[in-house]
Amino acid sequence: MTERRYLVRTFGCQMNEHDSERIAGLLTADGYVPAAEASEADVVVFNTCAIRENADNRLYGNLGHLRPLKQANPRMRIVVAGCLAQKDGGLIQERAPWVDVVVGTHALPGLLDLLVSAEAEGPQMDVREYTEVFPSALPARREVAHHAWVSIAVGCDNACTFCIVPLVRGAQRSRPVGDVLAEVQGLARHGVVEVTLLGQNVNTFGRDLTVPGSARRPLFADLLRAVNDVEGLRRIRFTSPHPHDFTPDVIDAMAESEKVCEHIHFPLQSGSDRVLRAMQRSYRRQRYLDWLEAIRGVITDIAVSTDIIVGFPAETEEDFEDTLDVVRRARFDQAYTFQYSPRPGTRAATMDEQVPKEVVQERFERLVAVQEEISLERMRDQVGRTVEVLVEGTGRKGGVQGRTRMNRLVHLPGQIAPGTFVAATVVSAHPHHLVGEQVRVPVAVG
Ligand code: SF4
Repeated sequence: MTERRYLVRTFGCQMNEHDSERIAGLLTADGYVPAAEASEADVVVFNTCAIRENADNRLYGNLGHLRPLKQANPRMRIVVAGCLAQKDGGLIQERAPWVDVVVGTHALPGLLDLLVSAEAEGPQMDVREYTEVFPSALPARREVAHHAWVSIAVGCDNACTFCIVPLVRGAQRSRPVGDVLAEVQGLARHGVVEVTLLGQNVNTFGRDLTVPGSARRPLFADLLRAVNDVEGLRRIRFTSPHPHDFTPDVIDAMAESEKVCEHIHFPLQSGSDRVLRAMQRSYRRQRYLDWLEAIRGVITDIAVSTDIIVGFPAETEEDFEDTLDVVRRARFDQAYTFQYSPRPGTRAATMDEQVPKEVVQERFERLVAVQEEISLERMRDQVGRTVEVLVEGTGRKGGVQGRTRMNRLVHLPGQIAPGTFVAATVVSAHPHHLVGEQVRVPVAVG
């Protein structure tokens, strides 16, 4: 019997990367093996994102390319999963009737059954509104052996006006602490040395749970401490906290847990109070800066990255100047900058006074220029230091690349196996990466 092959294409955020590992895991458990190209695959899965601009156009473009391949290979099954599947449901099969399965974010565990039903009955769709099985509980096939994404909560209880997540992922549901720990322990036994805990708003983890045998709710800080105790694990990351819900106990837990890396992703979105209000982000610029100061007061050498949206509806030049001001004061190591564009289904998309594209572009370029300068200065501070690098794989410029605890990308010469920790001296700095030289001594790690 010939082997059945699959290909998963992932769009969007880490949550989708995490779900794609589960999709690959389900298919592997059913006997499928990976295909290198769509033309060799019996099952092609698009794990879609509804956040990026023109996500639907890109999806239909990709589906259009697959159509002749499917006509040439009638055994091929095409699956659309992820946020766009959840949001658009039946519309996808109306526009692309050659799609066999549409599976929403809450229905992933049923993927194999949907494929079997599609075989017998034709196109299938499941975009149920409620998660019954946490995707993390499904088998996973990870892209790398040393790192794993671990979902601690799905959905979000906030209502940021630019964001589609509450619509496509639903209200927050936290995963019981015991389940998270069991997964991390299992991963560590299988050689995973670094985990990234994932949630839309990790700070509110546990709000919907109780500690067994008590009326208390488990807190994110408790979870960090518990994961820190897992034997064999060397690094813990998490993403993302919401500045509104950030609490001092999380800073203390980070400082006390030696495996928790000195990096925090702290989404700003805008430095203007007026825009933050319109975005329905419930903190203000000064509160944000105060939190950063508090974090840096306890963990002095910590890298901070952020997300910033430029050109939110009705953003004025003064609002934008406020954002530049916060950026200069916050001195982020990295900023993921986005030009606002309306996402269908969000409140912001219906707001008057959308900012003209050329104004957004001009502000965006000014913001990037300011941030690049700060990023380079922050990187230059690293030159001459010896840092611990976890090697991830081959670098784009030859040699290998890896990350420091502070999440800085480092290029190193030579060939070093992925998953190896090395000590490296930083010899030069660029806005988005460092160049290092391996130090020939074993690295002392906790
Ligand atoms: S906190 Fe806001 S931006 Fe983040 S997922 Fe929830 S609604 Fe979206």
